[in-house]
Amino acid sequence: MTIRTRFAPSPTGYLHIGGARTALFSWLYARRHGGTFVLRIEDTDLERSTAESVNAILEGMTWLGLEYDEGPFYQTERFDRYRQVTQQLLDEGKAYKCYCTREELDAMRADQMARKEKPRYDGRCRNRSEPRPGVEPVVRFRNPDEGQVTIEDMVRGQVLVSNAELDDLIIARSDGTPTYNFTVVVDDLDMGITHVIRGDDHLSNTPRQMNILAALGAPLPRYAHVPMILGADGSRLSKRHGAVSVMQYRDDGYLPEAVLNYLVRLGWSHGDQEVFSVDEMIELFDLGQINHSASSFNPDKLLWLNHHYLMHGDPLHVAHHLRWHLGQLGIDPTDGPDPVEIVKAQRERCKTLVDMARHSAFFYRDFAAYDEKAAQKNFAGDAPRVLEALRAALSDLSDWQREAIHGVLASTAEDLGVKLGSVAQPLRVAVTGTSVSPPIDVTVELLGREKTLCRIDRAREFVRALGLG
Ligand code: GLU
Repeated sequence: MTIRTRFAPSPTGYLHIGGARTALFSWLYARRHGGTFVLRIEDTDLERSTAESVNAILEGMTWLGLEYDEGPFYQTERFDRYRQVTQQLLDEGKAYKCYCTREELDAMRADQMARKEKPRYDGRCRNRSEPRPGVEPVVRFRNPDEGQVTIEDMVRGQVLVSNAELDDLIIARSDGTPTYNFTVVVDDLDMGITHVIRGDDHLSNTPRQMNILAALGAPLPRYAHVPMILGADGSRLSKRHGAVSVMQYRDDGYLPEAVLNYLVRLGWSHGDQEVFSVDEMIELFDLGQINHSASSFNPDKLLWLNHHYLMHGDPLHVAHHLRWHLGQLGIDPTDGPDPVEIVKAQRERCKTLVDMARHSAFFYRDFAAYDEKAAQKNFAGDAPRVLEALRAALSDLSDWQREAIHGVLASTAEDLGVKLGSVAQPLRVAVTGTSVSPPIDVTVELLGREKTLCRIDRAREFVRALGLG
């Protein structure tokens, strides 16, 4: 059997962390078994579904690298098919038209409540053969009265639901549009889905969906309901807990592989291993190892993973993402050093790409002003003559390499009888505007001769204007 999984988001917002995890688990399961991963857009809620959300979801999946093999299929393009299956169920007596009015349903509910019964549709139109003039009927699925539904859930184990708990679900509204549980069933059937992996907020829908599938004579997929994600305070993860949109993590400077690694560990484990490359995830992922209890979101761990991938990722790959972030700052990455070199120089001290881009902007464009404290501290004392000597020595330097630059700094310190730090720090403030940067010889090498000399001149001007020099 070829495994076929699906991700079936409702496009009513961005791709959030919970949805991305469902998508990842479904994708991994398909990849692990050489199966097919289907993307289905559940857009039948016309009021809440938007094209922007569809784009946001597709963008999020692309950024994460969760490529789908089939789809996207849009439910709104399948209404004829839903109508056809509704008719089939009606013809076979497995569904029926219900002419109950809102008032009647309200009264039924009130009676049941008064008798302390659970409110449910009592099936009174099941045997009605005559239409009711003036009432557009809904179509209800004739749920079995007897027996129980057994869900062999791949995460939760066996879940039993008695049919007495389930009433006759509306599958088509009076305007003919299909309802949510029905479209899911028809789609899972038509798309040949073998494994339904989704959040456990859908567990309560599963027995109804299984009953409808059985009525259609369809093979039942396996189900795996994944526990929800909680914020650090123990409540369901939401905007209150910070970013929940996947693309927000891109904007905040995370690498997709860090987010994927973080997501896979959110509810799944393999021993006590924390770091998984995508290939490893594919090799090791299994539904049986999904935790039974909810998992909590831990932003510090995500940050730790991000730093890990910045440090150990291929600089070429990291640079690809850094370029985007430089672009966000209005920087053209061709106006300065190769971002690959920036990654190598900066990755130890930057935990996000946003940090890296901000702290590297000076390589590409002049900074607006010196950090006040850094200037005060490092532009006084010996700084004026240090800068003057460095200006002369660096402009004569033929080999613009970090070793040679280091040599210039060392010999300047020696010539002036000062410590190396008293040469390095004024130069650092002069070229970066701040007192923090990669090693100064690396910084100067990457910045290039022209920008370095210009910035030393600018610093000397500044020092003179302050009356320090
Ligand atoms: N469209 C549903 C959602 O976004 C998912 C349905 C399913 O996976 O069966 O929550």
